[in-house]
Amino acid sequence: MRIIVTGGLGFLGFNLCRYLLSLNNEVTVIDRFGLSDKDHHKELCKSGIEYIVHDIIEPIEIDGKIDQIYHLASRASPNDYQKYPIDTALTNSLGTKNMLDLAKGKNARLLFTSTSEIYGDPQVYPQREDYFGNVNPIGIRSCYVESKRFGEALVMAYHSVFRTDVKIVRIFNAYGPGMRPDDGRVISNFINQAIKSAPVTIYGNGTQTRSFCYVDDVIEGIYRMMNAESFIGPVNIGNPYNISIKKIANLIIKLTDAKSKIVYLELPKDDPIRRSPDITLARLRLNWEPKISLTEGLKRTIKYYKNLRVSR
Ligand code: UDP
Repeated sequence: MRIIVTGGLGFLGFNLCRYLLSLNNEVTVIDRFGLSDKDHHKELCKSGIEYIVHDIIEPIEIDGKIDQIYHLASRASPNDYQKYPIDTALTNSLGTKNMLDLAKGKNARLLFTSTSEIYGDPQVYPQREDYFGNVNPIGIRSCYVESKRFGEALVMAYHSVFRTDVKIVRIFNAYGPGMRPDDGRVISNFINQAIKSAPVTIYGNGTQTRSFCYVDDVIEGIYRMMNAESFIGPVNIGNPYNISIKKIANLIIKLTDAKSKIVYLELPKDDPIRRSPDITLARLRLNWEPKISLTEGLKRTIKYYKNLRVSR
């Protein structure tokens, strides 16, 4: 099968490519960043993967047949997308249009990776797919949240007008090997601070909660959704186990055996107080649920970041 992965150099993209290659698929990555000799790029270079350097904000034509398109390209770290709000909004709107046009022209199936952020600061716990969310349309997160919401709407519009074969997954907080140490998200921040014995930075008082899903589980969920028949979604992919940011800081300090102190910094605006997926639908339709416990996932991730420090 020939499969396109947009954003194949990103955290989830790289892990997905690795998985698809292990199943002997022909994988073509579209990413605006070129392959470099850094970190995990080396592995993709060696795998003989087809690689197209292209910014999906511009339309693209590709020769030959395409069976499936995993559309992952987007900044996803709040740090990152708040620094580049226009680029983020256009990637998820224009970029998604361009990928839908590609899917339509090739008669390919397209899976859109949406996000738990579309639920905003939810008033309903846990969040089911039929919850419409509580979103600030003009806040510092809106470039990402609203463009992902628009992306979902556009995907459904292509399906209703052109019968394009589409799927939507809503991915909750993910972590694991392959995330940049300076990505800015909480688990990579805390682990990298702890292994340097630097202060661990909690934003706010740390009572806000999240549910963290290990990357291998996320990839398995996305893959199952892509290959499920007669099911468009949206479907939540995440780990229902909920934990406060303060507890996760202490757990990481314990697992790394670090001497780090905790420092409390200002809570960013519109930071959701509580987020946790209801995965009943994924269990039912995809026979999927996370397998890796938080402690096990953190141990693997700590090992990854420690090795990365040594190899640099
Ligand atoms: N956070 C924190 N310290 C950090 C990074 C993040 O306390 O160094 C908090 C952040 O304010 C949020 C939670 O951890 O409440 C998860 O943040 P992340 O950026 O990983 O993803 P989000 O769920 O906010 O999209």
